[in-house]
Amino acid sequence: MKVYRSISSLTKKIQEIKKQGKAIGLVPTMGFLHEGHMSLIRRARKDTDCVIVSIFVNPAQFGPKEDFRKYPRDMKKDLELCEKEAADIIFAPEAREMYPEGFATYVKVERITDTLCGASRPGHFRGVATVVAKLFNITMPDIAYFGQKDGQQAAVIRRMAKDLDMPVKIKVEPIVREKDGLAMSSRNVYLNPEERVQALCIYKSLKLAQRLFNKGERDSKEIIKRMSQLINENRKADIDYVSIVDTEELRDMKRISGQAMVTVAVRIGNTRLIDNIILN
Ligand code: AMP
Repeated sequence: MKVYRSISSLTKKIQEIKKQGKAIGLVPTMGFLHEGHMSLIRRARKDTDCVIVSIFVNPAQFGPKEDFRKYPRDMKKDLELCEKEAADIIFAPEAREMYPEGFATYVKVERITDTLCGASRPGHFRGVATVVAKLFNITMPDIAYFGQKDGQQAAVIRRMAKDLDMPVKIKVEPIVREKDGLAMSSRNVYLNPEERVQALCIYKSLKLAQRLFNKGERDSKEIIKRMSQLINENRKADIDYVSIVDTEELRDMKRISGQAMVTVAVRIGNTRLIDNIILN
């Protein structure tokens, strides 16, 4: 496994790999890796010849009042975990390598970034799309791996790759959870013990949605009402949104038909957590 910090040295390596006809798999991450990330790396290891993991806390996707500075980082442990999963290449650039002075070009995916997390985090998906487009250009992956955990992000990346004819296949992998159901997230370390218990209301609300759906409920408003009641029983929980949308255009569904994503963003104390399930 080799760690690259500069774009030019990695570009040279990529040219070599391409000449050898190897398939490249890219797993973009912001580090502080957990089992969710590992599942993506393992998938890439199975599918492709050369697995690249990028570790980059992307300043462009954080708002001015968000947690960019205090976002958890542990490069040493991340490298150990990647080594264990037999990743080939780590790309861990500094911010000024990705955004040098004079940088002025951004990718903006429209419409589907106006809702859900896009509505409460203006500019977030512009930062995400831009960094992922750059990572695609730098690493030239055959397949890139994303988690369903960030359901809207997955839809945005799919849209971008399709609209801009990027020659990469996007694979979206299932959400990995803690034993008690909490979706794994680097931000879970922010939770104190009381908050950690209350954070479970997020998954509980999604399971409630699944149960109601299984019983035949198709009215989104009713399901959202019941989910919100459950979440609001928790003193530390403050709902950003509880929505039921289609998985491609992310439009609100009044009545559930076909594939629907039940998606939730809740602030637990100061920590904003997201989660979702797909109803079929
Ligand atoms: P992040 O480091 O949080 O930007 O996440 C990097 C990638 O890992 C994204 O594609 C996420 O959707 C994915 N990911 C994060 N948490 C999970 C999880 N619990 N299960 C599956 N994938 C995840």
